[in-house]
Parts: sequence; structure tokens; C-alpha cells
Amino acid sequence: MGLPVKELEVKKVFKEVNGTSKQKKKRKKKWLWFLLFGSIPLLPMIATLFLLLVIIFIPTLTQNKIDLSEYGATTIPAEYIPIYQEAGEKYGVEWILIAAIHKVETNFSQNLAVSSAGAIGHTQFMKCTWLGWRYPNCSSAPESVYTNVSIINKYGGYGVDGNGNGKADPWELEDSIYATAKYLSANMTGNTLEEKMRNAIYAYNHADWYVERVLTYYEMFKAGGGTVVAEIKGDKAWPVPYTKNLTSYFGIRNDPTSGKKGVQHNGIDISSGGIYGTPIVAFADGIVTYSQFNTGGYGYLVIIDHGNNVKTYYAHMKQQGIPIGSQVKAGQVIGYVGSTGNSTGPHLHFEVRVNGQAVDPMPYVSPFLN
Ligand SMILES: [Zn+2]
Repeated sequence: MGLPVKELEVKKVFKEVNGTSKQKKKRKKKWLWFLLFGSIPLLPMIATLFLLLVIIFIPTLTQNKIDLSEYGATTIPAEYIPIYQEAGEKYGVEWILIAAIHKVETNFSQNLAVSSAGAIGHTQFMKCTWLGWRYPNCSSAPESVYTNVSIINKYGGYGVDGNGNGKADPWELEDSIYATAKYLSANMTGNTLEEKMRNAIYAYNHADWYVERVLTYYEMFKAGGGTVVAEIKGDKAWPVPYTKNLTSYFGIRNDPTSGKKGVQHNGIDISSGGIYGTPIVAFADGIVTYSQFNTGGYGYLVIIDHGNNVKTYYAHMKQQGIPIGSQVKAGQVIGYVGSTGNSTGPHLHFEVRVNGQAVDPMPYVSPFLN
């Protein structure tokens, strides 16, 4: 008996819904007409407003990356940038330099193992530098001592409580970044900015290769830093298994053959006693696109194309290297060290070219130089 009643109710409700939706449809149509024709004169205004919004908001969203090259923006972990910036501001150090140190020291904290020299934390401080060299037996001080801010201050250490938790701990990211900024700032001696930076980096780790490596990353991270880095994919191999000794770096130098001052050197030179005739191997997989005597000064030269517009050059070979067209694997022998072309002695001149432009090979080879 209850069924017919329900049917009636349902029909009634249906009728009501139908009625109101018809009215709505009429209103919707009006709105559609208005939107279609009424808004045409407004289109330029809407477009301008939209553009203004884009102009105002995009820079604020990407403000942190504005000083960065594309390589920098994709390499530096975004979450660290505000920390570098605050630390840099506090101690008057360019934040990109701090990022470059962090990159070279622990690959942005991906490698936090204690170094063979005993350096600790995110930016690899010697315990004594952190705590203060005047502290008796600083290198064996326990954690409770070397993280104690008042002891650090008393003994002239560089440890900083960057995150304000009452401890200056090299294993805490903010603390180590602030300490790095403080240490760099204290060692910025010299007249020109470059001199100051070089001295500060050298103070961090007394090695020329280290200074070059940090500066290279610094330049690559910076917008308009000059170098364009493109990735070489796959396995890599150090090009001269016999030695890792570098005798010349990329950049301006006095030419060793002509004696001319301030000549651009487009690669790195690898050499040490007894190198003559030892194998040269491919830095990475690729195809040999050039293999002959080059009259421009390279002597016997092999060029390997690695794709992605990156090529590597191997110059001054003893004799003609692996034939053009060969497909090579990283580590495969492609020739032998000689001294052909403009060369003062047996060495390998190694170049990396991106879109035909010579770039600093150090970022590419530095993983082999630890
Ligand atoms: Zn060279």
C-alpha cells in the first residue's frame, strides 16, 4: 500500500526540479551571451591584467634562483638556498661561493663520511678549526666540548650556532653553512675580488686543484658565469691511467711554447715523468669524429662525440689514434701520450667542448681527483 504514495512524491519532486532547472537554463544562456559578446571589449584589459600578474609573481616565485645559471638552478638543492643566502648576508660572502664549497666538500651533504684528514660535517671542518686551535688537544675534543658555543668563542674557533638551538654542531646543516661563511669571510685577503676569493678558498683546503674546482662550480652556478655545462652520460674514465698529475689548468696563462702572456688555454694538461707512450683512454662512451694530425697545434688529435653537443679532445698523441668512426667505451684505449704539435714535452692536453665552445674540464674530471 505504501508504494503508490512514494511514486506520487517522486513525481512531484521531479516536476519541481524540472521547473527550476528551466529557469536556470534561461539565466545561464544570458550569461553565456554576455560572456561571448560583452567581454570582447574587455579582452585587452583581461590580457593586460594577466600579464601584469605574471610579471609580478614569477620573479617573486623564482627570486632565489635569479642569480643562478640554468645549471646552478638545477644542481643546487632549492631548500639550501635560503640558508646560503642568510649566512652569506651575515658574513658578507657571496652565497653562490658557499654553495660551491658545499658542492665540492660533500656534494651537498650527500657524502657525509669523515674524511681521511679527519674533517667533519656538512662542509668538512677540521675539528680544531671548528673549536679553536688554541684549545688543548683540540683534535680529540669530545662532542660536548666542540659544540659548546662559549668554549668555541673563548678559543677562537669558527663553529657557529646557525640554527639557534644552543649548539654549534658541524653535523647540523645551518651551523656548518654559517661556519663556512664565517671562515671564508675571515680569509678574504687581497686586493681584487678574485684574489680575495682565491685566498679564502685556499684557506679552506690548501690545494690549487681545490681552488680551481670550487671556482669552476662558482662560475658555473652563476648566471652569465661564462661556462655552459652539459652532461656527459654514462660511465667515465680518467683519460690517462698512468698519472693524475695536472700541469696546467683551463683559463688564461702564459703560453709555454710561444712565451706569450695571457693566452687562453682551452683544456687541462696531464703529465708526469715516464708518461711518454702510455695509453690514453676515452673519457666516456662516444663516437670518434676526428683522428689525424692537426696543423693548428694539437698534433695527433682524437675527438670523441658523446652526444648532447659535448665532445672531448685528446691532443699531442704520439701517433695517429683510433680511427674516425670508431664507437668507443669509457676507458677504452684510443691512443698513446706523445708530444706532437705545439708541445713542450710529453703530455695529454684534454679539452671538453660544448656546442663547439671549450669549457673548463675540471667539473667533468674532478670526481677522479679526490
Ligand atoms: Zn694544453
